Amino acid sequence: MAKTRMTKQRKTIMRILKNTASHPTADTIYEEVKKEIPNISLGTVYRNLNLLEEMNEIMVINYTNAQSHYDGVTKNHYHFRCNNCGKVFDLDLDILDEDVDKYVEKNTNFQIDEHRLEFYGLCPACQK
Ligand code: ZN
Ligand code: MN
Repeated sequence: MAKTRMTKQRKTIMRILKNTASHPTADTIYEEVKKEIPNISLGTVYRNLNLLEEMNEIMVINYTNAQSHYDGVTKNHYHFRCNNCGKVFDLDLDILDEDVDKYVEKNTNFQIDEHRLEFYGLCPACQK
């Protein structure tokens, strides 16, 4: 029974994340899940989010001094965070992760396993 409930909760969280490009925080996801599962707790949402991350079903985007954002898209892509409204956007770039790794390896003596690259500034709406 507990397992079934867990699966339903996890599936609901997954569906919410796969259907949005807004990179919601746990609080926002919690508000959404509550509409379908009213008795769910924030702690349960966090537990499921951690589990989904471990299963590589979702991606967590961490920023210093800000709440984590969650992403249903797990393939490599870059993000832009607006310094004014705090929204997180996907960047559709031609540069691929592997290209960046290769570039650094070619120009230094380091062997690259992974890298992090984040962009900050003003989103189109906040520029107005
Ligand atoms: Zn903005
Ligand atoms: Mn994304």
